[in-house]
Amino acid sequence: MAVVKADGYGHGAVMVAREALGAGATSLGVATVDEGVALRSNGIAGTILVLGPIEPSEIDTAIIADLELAVADMEFLGTLRRRVAALGQQLHVHVKVDTGMRRFGSVVRDAIGLCREIEGESGLRLAGVFTHFADADGLDDSFTASQAARFEEVVEQLRAERIGPGLVHASNSAAALRWRQYDYDMVRIGIAMYGLQPAPGMQLPVGIRPAMEIRSRLARVSDLEPGETVSYGRTYEAREPERIGLVPIGYADGYRRELSNRGQMGLAGIAAPVRGRVCMDQTIVGIPNGVEAAAGDEVVAVGRGGDGAPTVADLAADLGTIGYEVVTGIARRVPRIYIKNGRVVAIQDLHAVRELDL
Ligand SMILES: *Cc1c(COP(=O)(O)O)cnc(C)c1O
Repeated sequence: MAVVKADGYGHGAVMVAREALGAGATSLGVATVDEGVALRSNGIAGTILVLGPIEPSEIDTAIIADLELAVADMEFLGTLRRRVAALGQQLHVHVKVDTGMRRFGSVVRDAIGLCREIEGESGLRLAGVFTHFADADGLDDSFTASQAARFEEVVEQLRAERIGPGLVHASNSAAALRWRQYDYDMVRIGIAMYGLQPAPGMQLPVGIRPAMEIRSRLARVSDLEPGETVSYGRTYEAREPERIGLVPIGYADGYRRELSNRGQMGLAGIAAPVRGRVCMDQTIVGIPNGVEAAAGDEVVAVGRGGDGAPTVADLAADLGTIGYEVVTGIARRVPRIYIKNGRVVAIQDLHAVRELDL
């Protein structure tokens, strides 16, 4: 399963979904009904599982959009059963088992009961049973092992009762990178598919690199006199004559305000420090000595290494967060430009996804 929730971890769910299905993924994972519906309305036809809890009022929409749903309690299952009957449709469901994450899912004991109920219901089909690991990227493997043991108990019980569990799945990226024995029938890959490590120090397979970089262009280049200050609150003051460049990216694009006077961008392969406060739509950088910069020159705000800009992992470390939050925080208004084999093949902007020459 290719996990494309949160607009494909900020990369644009439609194009990621299309590419993942083309590359052999058998299903897509989203967090909400709305995310699934958005994929359908953009022509994505594959299997889509909504991984998280949904509102009863969203059930009809999910059924009509042919989404698969996760079930974790009897009450929700009862509502599902009624809606499926009312609409005269079939619905594929996956029972979510909480084996220790204590987030979404039914306890082990109730999971079996849910599966039995689903098995006896003509409008519902048990398409899978799954759980989610709480500490797959941790140093201690024992908690993951205990979760897997609990999960396997459920699966064995189902098989003993001759209830076909459908697809058995548990691993996220971190677990799939570390263990084969928890692959079962399917793994749910999110962060690693985007070329990012689940946690610092976790190695990705050779050849996997970040898909996203964030580039802009200098909108203006100007000169500061000693004593002049930059941006809101005048938090940066030039000590000597300095050239600065204006980059039309700000915190509303997901370029975080904590990077004020702290971050850097890549300019001609060299680190250009952020000067003053990051604004909503614009940021000012100091142009390093020796760099000939002019309006229109390319600036790398988030790079992939070796370009003078921080990588997603660098930014995450600097901001005290994880790469997941960096990429999912990039605003929708930043156009996503898709490059395949060196050619731009599609653009997603605020209006639509447009594929070129395909
Ligand atoms: C987000 C999510 C995943 C993917 O996790 P990654 O760490 O990004 O690979 C898998 N399973 C569930 C239930 C999720 O919510």
